[in-house]
Amino acid sequence: MASPIDALLRSNASYASNFHRAPPDFAKLGELAKKATSRICIITCADPRIDPAQFLDLPGNSDIVSIVMRNAGGSARRALVDLLAVDSLVSFTDVFIIRHTDCGTTHFTDASIKRGIRDQLADEHDKLELEAIEFGDCAVPPEQRCSEEVAWLREQAFLREELRGKVVGGVYDLDTGKVELVK
Ligand SMILES: [Zn+2]
Repeated sequence: MASPIDALLRSNASYASNFHRAPPDFAKLGELAKKATSRICIITCADPRIDPAQFLDLPGNSDIVSIVMRNAGGSARRALVDLLAVDSLVSFTDVFIIRHTDCGTTHFTDASIKRGIRDQLADEHDKLELEAIEFGDCAVPPEQRCSEEVAWLREQAFLREELRGKVVGGVYDLDTGKVELVK
């Protein structure tokens, strides 16, 4: 049986020959980003039901360059390293953390994830290292979680002070398609 990767590669071959247009090279991209009025880092969830390019109409506005960072839940904590790295190149003007309703991360707990992984570990040292990882419990309303993430990111010393003051949060509603800002 053909592997799923082979199926994806076939789809890619079709995309490459029928739709692809080469984007500007990195130097050109940097020039475009510098000319833009705003360079926004969007941190959001990797959930396949949400696509920021679609619900925010990216890149519909050439004055705004958006770079999207996605992970489980849309965690600012997990995105911080990437945010700092990319900020050193593009100097973001804003950070927008977007959580969403019915997020899959609200269906697990730190303990339930660790239980599943611990069962396959034989080494005691590995078990200790697992305990040190914070998956976090997200079973709280997305507005609350988003406000906590915004407050956390605004306190990070590694983040430029100017950018710390430009961190905002919002919640994307899967039913209505609307993003509402959180306090
Ligand atoms: Zn999610």
